[in-house]
Amino acid sequence: MNTEALLKLADDHMLHVANRERVVMARGRGMYLYDTDGRKYLDFVAGWAVNALGHSPKCLRKALDRQAAELVNASPGFYNRAHIEFADYLCRVSGYGRVFFCSTGAEANEGAVKLARKYGSIARNGASRVICITNSFHGRTLAMMSATGKAAWQTLFEPKCGGFSHVPLNDFEALERAAGDDVCAVMMELVQGEGGVYAADEEYIRKVVSLCRERNILFIDDEIQTGLGRTGALFCCEHYGFRPDIMTLGKGIGGGFPLAAMLTHDSLNIFAPGEQGGTYTGQPLAMAAGHAVVKEIVESNLTQNAREIGEYTKEVLGVLAADWPITDIRGMGLLTGFDLPEEQGARVVKEAFVRNLLINCPPSSPRSVRLIPPLTVKRKHVDMMAERLDRAIRAVLR
Ligand SMILES: *Cc1c(COP(=O)(O)O)cnc(C)c1O
Repeated sequence: MNTEALLKLADDHMLHVANRERVVMARGRGMYLYDTDGRKYLDFVAGWAVNALGHSPKCLRKALDRQAAELVNASPGFYNRAHIEFADYLCRVSGYGRVFFCSTGAEANEGAVKLARKYGSIARNGASRVICITNSFHGRTLAMMSATGKAAWQTLFEPKCGGFSHVPLNDFEALERAAGDDVCAVMMELVQGEGGVYAADEEYIRKVVSLCRERNILFIDDEIQTGLGRTGALFCCEHYGFRPDIMTLGKGIGGGFPLAAMLTHDSLNIFAPGEQGGTYTGQPLAMAAGHAVVKEIVESNLTQNAREIGEYTKEVLGVLAADWPITDIRGMGLLTGFDLPEEQGARVVKEAFVRNLLINCPPSSPRSVRLIPPLTVKRKHVDMMAERLDRAIRAVLR
């Protein structure tokens, strides 16, 4: 079936939830995606920071093959070897004592909020409110849409779930005022990803962490986008020098296989059986995929590559900024953002696509461009990206 016919079927039968480019992706290898017409795209989006090792890396293919031949699914009612082995490995590399696995980031965050509310019911007189940050993103379930601080979502799908409040990023006084007796946790991204690559200040986090300790409030660190090497540290909280009570991981952890995790300390092993779970928790294929991906990130020191190539990316963007009105080049490691004048982000992304370069304009930040390539990206790819980006910007701003 040719591309035209495939797109016709998509138009006829798929629930319309996104405005997609009119191409059908067929194959991926390393830094590149190929469509059904054989066009080859340099991928600086990586499925929104998901393909941490690039497309179809060998270690992931091998792990999935081996596990599929052995056991695809047992039941969340039994232990399975892949689940136990990955739980042990992830706890060892992260320094946490306990992990709960699920399939999506939203689900991991929901688990984190449930755990915090359980803690509130035990240790804080039933406190249940969670303080979140304006412009944040935590997922698309109803509860996580309520937690998310996106202006455009405020009136969507009412009624929202109660028990979430929002304060601006880096405004400690606002958070302190909001942290009343009914609050069990604060939840935030240390670098807002979907919001446009905006980092929390170190001083702000230092104050929030000590306020949380003082008032017995949990800190939930949403590292679904920032975790596992992306920012040039294995976890973004390392840049800030603290260890959150609860950390959620997603996206890159499965390298493209649907997988997410919620990590916490032994002291928060407080769910009663049945209060948290899921059909696919500890699913053997997902466990094998995650184990292979995280092991590769750690053993090939991709964190260091993220740091180095992230720095190089900023340098190269700095050179482009001599020719074009590129401002506020920002981010950590391989989570990079910059601004263009007059909300031109989406137009530059479109022109880059025409030139076989995939980059992203964060939905809440129309003047920005975000680069989130695989952690395996090399200098030569950054050079190629810059050359295509230069032409894309020229097409929009000339
Ligand atoms: C993508 C993302 C999520 C949601 O993950 P899903 O797998 O889409 O549910 C949550 N938090 C952050 C910070 C994210 O970037």
